[in-house]
Amino acid sequence: MNLIDALDLAGLTGRGGAAFGTGIKVRAAAENKADLIVNACDGEIGAAKDGWVVGYHLDELVEGARLVTSRRRGRIRYAAHRDSETAHRLRAAGLDVLETPDRYVSSEETSLISLAQGGLARPMTKRAPFVMGGRDSAGRRIRPTVVLNAETVWRVAQIAERGPDWFRSFGTPDEPGPRLVSVTGYVMSPHVVQTEAGVPIGDLLDAAGEFAPVGEHLLIGGLGGFFLTMTEGRRARWSSADLAPFGGSIGPGILDVLDPRLCPLGTVDRFLSYAAGESAGQCGPCMFGVPAVAADWRELAAHPTQSVLDRMRHRADQLANRGACRFPDGVGRFATSAFRVFGQHLGEHARGRCPSERTPAHA
Ligand code: SF4
Repeated sequence: MNLIDALDLAGLTGRGGAAFGTGIKVRAAAENKADLIVNACDGEIGAAKDGWVVGYHLDELVEGARLVTSRRRGRIRYAAHRDSETAHRLRAAGLDVLETPDRYVSSEETSLISLAQGGLARPMTKRAPFVMGGRDSAGRRIRPTVVLNAETVWRVAQIAERGPDWFRSFGTPDEPGPRLVSVTGYVMSPHVVQTEAGVPIGDLLDAAGEFAPVGEHLLIGGLGGFFLTMTEGRRARWSSADLAPFGGSIGPGILDVLDPRLCPLGTVDRFLSYAAGESAGQCGPCMFGVPAVAADWRELAAHPTQSVLDRMRHRADQLANRGACRFPDGVGRFATSAFRVFGQHLGEHARGRCPSERTPAHA
């Protein structure tokens, strides 16, 4: 069986969050003689799994990359944040490293392609998938290039060696295969878990160890993700079907337990303030909309009123499908989810008190 058929049968999807069929991407790459960029940036907040793959399975990662490009001998580059441990490890192994600035959108797929071809690490508008090549908005020629997440490339090597049936013996029919999850935040031992879709989220949390007082809220998927109460999380399984009612999916595999000693409104504020500074400044709705949502949230946390709430909801909704990349979509989802989960907490702030009693009210 050839590699692409094996990937299709296995049902491997990208482990970076978009969950696009890997067989489709590898087939298009072969047809267009595309170069490969292996994305090991762990660009989402809380992500650690691609660095883990580089740290523990580098030989298989390199083999996976070789398999993806073997028919056409395309150039293989490994993307990692500048001066990160991952970049040092890749370089020490003699690999061709594409060092990216440590900015949120720098590891976005088209940002990496732009950087690899001498441009800035900023998202590019896709007229057609860059696996087919083309030109950027300045008219520069772009070589056909495919970007695959590091965990995805490692899985390619595993499927080639062990077969699609082995792969499908893990996970669910909709989300097959073993997968990694970064469990982080308020847990005793933050680490990368080797797991599969369909396991109870409570098992992932228990494996990381809880502190007392226990966490009360979870953030799944970082800045592009969404919140759950701990009760909701412990009732759910790690699958996109279980998480869809909360507005999200298993995404890039990040499970973050919020510190219950800190006001969650302040935590949301810190994420949104960070987001406000990370827009690449190319699309108006993102450049102005994301900072406006961040400012609204800060105002809401300090002085909650219905009019600010309505304005922020409207602005968060307006972020969807408005940018050249998915960054504002993710921020809109994050903010909308914060309304849902922390609505009661906002109400308490309106009454002049913060339920996170161990710290002063966020202001
Ligand atoms: S949506 Fe924002 S981050 Fe994405 S390309 Fe446009 S300005 Fe840049």
